[in-house]
Amino acid sequence: MPRVIREGVATPYGECNICKRPTRSHVLEPAIYDEFKTEEVVSRADDYAAKQWEEVEEVVKYRLAKNAIVLCHGCYVEQEKKLTAMVDKNYDRWMESPATYVARIRTIAETYKYYKFEGELETKIKSLVKALKGSKNDR
Ligand SMILES: [Zn+2]
Repeated sequence: MPRVIREGVATPYGECNICKRPTRSHVLEPAIYDEFKTEEVVSRADDYAAKQWEEVEEVVKYRLAKNAIVLCHGCYVEQEKKLTAMVDKNYDRWMESPATYVARIRTIAETYKYYKFEGELETKIKSLVKALKGSKNDR
């Protein structure tokens, strides 16, 4: 049975991954569905017809297999603040010798991608990753 992500279908409400309030404000990981085919009766003879008949059609259906991972807006903003504070505090030091902080920079880059943060934070993290790639000590 194929497992699919359904583009263009609203994410079902879930529990915020942090505070557990129901939300779908920020989707970190999309919901995954099982796709299956089934037959549906689209038309049939009425009960009193002399000759009974049935018309079936194959239809594709989806069953939710794995809930989306979602964050409410409050928690999302909180995460963004935390990451921004960490980047702001260390930015100059990390830019000076990115190769020394490979693990930190990579972790932060992963976090930023996962949460899909934008704006100034994104710009700074991209600069750090670029500096890291350009650094000759990177193995
Ligand atoms: Zn929350």
